[in-house]
Amino acid sequence: MKSKIWLSSPHLGGSELKYIKEALDANWVAPLGPNVDGFEQDLEIFLNEKIKVAALSAGTAALHLALIECNVSAGDEVICQSMTFSASANPIVYLGAVPVFIDSEKDTWNMCPAALKEAIEDRISKGKKPKAIIVVNLYGMPAKMDEILTVADNYGIPLIEDAAESLGSRYKGKSCGTFGRFGILSFNGNKIITTSGGGALVCHSQEDKDKAVFLSTQARDKAPHYQHSQIGYNYRMSNISAGIGRGQMEVLEERVEGRRNVHRFYDELCRNLDGVTLFSEPSSDFYSNHWLSVITIDETKSSITPEDLRLEFLKDDIESRPIWKPMHLQPIFKDAPYYGRKVAEELFGNSLCLPSGSNLSDDEKERIAKVMIDVFSDKKEYSVL
Ligand SMILES: *Cc1c(COP(=O)(O)O)cnc(C)c1O
Repeated sequence: MKSKIWLSSPHLGGSELKYIKEALDANWVAPLGPNVDGFEQDLEIFLNEKIKVAALSAGTAALHLALIECNVSAGDEVICQSMTFSASANPIVYLGAVPVFIDSEKDTWNMCPAALKEAIEDRISKGKKPKAIIVVNLYGMPAKMDEILTVADNYGIPLIEDAAESLGSRYKGKSCGTFGRFGILSFNGNKIITTSGGGALVCHSQEDKDKAVFLSTQARDKAPHYQHSQIGYNYRMSNISAGIGRGQMEVLEERVEGRRNVHRFYDELCRNLDGVTLFSEPSSDFYSNHWLSVITIDETKSSITPEDLRLEFLKDDIESRPIWKPMHLQPIFKDAPYYGRKVAEELFGNSLCLPSGSNLSDDEKERIAKVMIDVFSDKKEYSVL
């Protein structure tokens, strides 16, 4: 029987169990312990040795703490890329702040620097300077960091880089996650590496990291009894999860190479399909981990919609998925301000995420290719069916 092909499934390396066993043998089952320290160190070495990383329970938790460390509080405005997963924007609302959404640009599908500038100026003219900017590297593709940082720096607004999908990606040779005042990573089950569930805050000073660790462990003041002068959170990563993370760090480079190979496979395939374009790096400044491979279908050249293709895949038990629905179109954010020219809307309407796991087998690739070739090679016959 054919097995299901997943969009993006966990891909273990082999050493995860060794680190978990060490933790169990030494009774380091509670949060904290040698795996947490080891995992943080592995990430620091991978990203850049000057970086400080705090391992947390989720990428969403890391964003929440990043906003707190940027002094965001109730009533403030925070700028956020519209085309992203809701977890990029939700922590703004946790704090009682208001998201202001920014459109994508066509090269990287990430935050448009021109729309960002327009939004900041308009918010300032309305009497409210945004407190922070959340930029995302969608599907592993780095945003136009030079331009975004120039705008952010011009107005003195801290940048938070949501690198949940882009661990292992680089922009002009520099690791994604290290560009802003803070970066955030996710190790959820579907990401490029996983800890079964987890995240990290990427900091540029020991002080910022210490504050994140303090807040993530219930904000206990230094005293023998439990004393608190700030609201705390239970956001620290467990030593067991971090053990999985240490095993995964041993194969991270291989996983990036694996996902990039999947992207190469789709590149070859799509060249022969009319109206199909694979989302790819706009220039050699961008190095994507290609967490997910995504196609756009040109309506003027093809009668196939992304939904037609998704349903055809489903018949063969192959999972594919529409791209993130922009946040400014979401019912929960319908009243939030939005700046842009509907680039994200258009991309949402004509794109589809394809199975992209680094563990995709040759047989599975063949099944995927067969569906796509069938669907796109005989459009007339298909539309009659
Ligand atoms: C996965 C993801 C997150 C959230 O990470 P969790 O670890 O699942 O909390 C945030 N932003 C983006 C863009 C993501 O893809």
